[in-house]
Amino acid sequence: MTDWQRELRAQFPIVAAHPDIAYLDSAATAQKPQPVLTAVMEYLTSENANAARGTYPWANRTTARVEQARDRVRAFLGDPVPARSGVHFVSGATEGLRAVARDWLAPQLRDGDEIVVPYADHNANIVPWHEAAALARARGVQVTLRAMPYDAAHDYDTARLAALVTPRTRLIAATHVHHVYGNDMHVSRLRAAAGPDVPICLDAAQSVGHLPISVAGLDVDFLVFSGHKAMALPGTGAVWARNQRGPEYVPAGWPGTPNTSGIVSLVAALDWLDAAGVDRIADWTRELGARLTDGLSGLGAYQVLGCQHSLAAASDVQRRQGIVTFRHREIGSADLGFILAADGLLVRSDGHCQGDQGEKASSVRVSLHAYNTVQEIDRLLERLADLNSG
Ligand code: PMP
Repeated sequence: MTDWQRELRAQFPIVAAHPDIAYLDSAATAQKPQPVLTAVMEYLTSENANAARGTYPWANRTTARVEQARDRVRAFLGDPVPARSGVHFVSGATEGLRAVARDWLAPQLRDGDEIVVPYADHNANIVPWHEAAALARARGVQVTLRAMPYDAAHDYDTARLAALVTPRTRLIAATHVHHVYGNDMHVSRLRAAAGPDVPICLDAAQSVGHLPISVAGLDVDFLVFSGHKAMALPGTGAVWARNQRGPEYVPAGWPGTPNTSGIVSLVAALDWLDAAGVDRIADWTRELGARLTDGLSGLGAYQVLGCQHSLAAASDVQRRQGIVTFRHREIGSADLGFILAADGLLVRSDGHCQGDQGEKASSVRVSLHAYNTVQEIDRLLERLADLNSG
């Protein structure tokens, strides 16, 4: 463990409280560092009030915090023109994608319009687009859902995507990092295939906090993420929208009490991630993932899903983030999950909310974050080696 990593790990009270547990399920939700917990505690015990309502100082300061949090999200996402973007706080990526689908896209859909849907990605990035089409249908408007094309490496096939886009394409939905295969989906290439005018909505649930993000470089119109996967409290997330193509996206002006303490936690989490260095976290978790993949490749009973990445193969290491998903050839994945949990190895097992799962429905996913260690990976590999013969 490097000093950098040791210092980071020491900031997670839950890690210190459970020395025998290896938490290997950060793609589901991440653990919270002390500064995030402290920020929430301080807020709730010093000036907790509602936002955009009262006229007294606590309420005014809470309103200001929420507004400043929008700027913090813009900055974290590398938004080059903050004046032209909106940030809407939501409970997570699912609600965020749903907000874009229902509140922005659905009302503007016309007969014959088309939406490109990534069916091999997370259900949260599939179901909302069906909902938008259903809302259109309810007012007599027929919308066609087109399947995003993929190549053999589970990347988007941009040549086939370009052929699929028509003047009626109203939105392309995509994912930044795949939640099962862990690969960076190379979304900056989508713009050339989409053309200049088609809005692209990006599900960044598995990349915010794991990869440095630049909405300008990605050239997307919406970026949606879950704050809780980026070390903020559960029930946090945001939609960033570039108000450039189509009607403005302004649900930030909606009534309703925002999740103020969650928003406080999100700001603290983004500050923590920036201080830790997202690029270093990315390198670290890729390295751990590659160590696991390399270890598994020596164990005949296991099959790793998606593209392979090994410590030796520099280009694949660049590509695959700290998510490794595999199956045992004989032991069912749910059973394997229970066996590992009995040894304090907490992984995600069985299904993964993937849309077009086919025969890959059941598997074991190991997903890593800043607090994970080489020792944890080696401990997992040792236990998997015990089960190698089935
Ligand atoms: N998209 C992806 C790629 C995800 O991995 C997840 C969480 N598993 C979601 C969306 C949904 O996130 P949430 O549960 O926070 O709404």
